[in-house]
Amino acid sequence: MVDVQNDFCPGGALAVPDGDAVVSRINAMAREAPFVVATRDWHPPDHGSFASQGGPWPVHCVADSPGAQLHPGLDRGLVDVVVDKGRAPDLDGYSGFEETALEQLLRERDVDSVDVVGLALDYCVKATALDARRAGFDVTVHRGATRAVEVGPGDAERAVGELRAAGVEVLE
Ligand SMILES: [Zn+2]
Repeated sequence: MVDVQNDFCPGGALAVPDGDAVVSRINAMAREAPFVVATRDWHPPDHGSFASQGGPWPVHCVADSPGAQLHPGLDRGLVDVVVDKGRAPDLDGYSGFEETALEQLLRERDVDSVDVVGLALDYCVKATALDARRAGFDVTVHRGATRAVEVGPGDAERAVGELRAAGVEVLE
C-alpha cells in the first residue's frame, strides 16, 4: 500500500480527491495478503519537491509530522513492514523502490507477485508499480483501491496506459 497518509487524504496538505475512500478496501485486501508493506512519503523539511524549494508540490509528509502518519483508518496490525521513501532532499521519491530496502524485503520472502494500491495512482502508485515490474515482479494495480491527483485532466488514464504498456496488470 502506497502512501495512505494523512497529507494525501481530504484535509491534508496535498489531498488527493476522495483519497480516504481507499482505506476500507485496502484493509480488506491486506487481511488476505501474506505479506503487507506500507510505504510512506517521508520528506526532510527542505525536500526538493516542495514549492518552497522550487518544486511542484506544497510542503507535505515532512518526516514525523502528523500529516506524514498513516491514515488512522488503516489497520496497522495488518502491516508487516513500513518503508519510508523520499528521504533524500534531491530525489522525487515517488517510487517505493527508490533508495529503499523494499526490493530486498520482497526477495527475502521469495515474493514473485506484487499487488499495488494506494495514493496517488498517477504518481507514487504508478512509479512504484513500474519499478516493481522493472525488478521482475508480476505486478497488479487494483485501480479501485487507488485515487489519482489528476493535476491535468486525463492523467489517471495516461497512467493506466503507461502501466499496461510496461506489462502491469490493471484491474478495477
Ligand atoms: Zn512527496
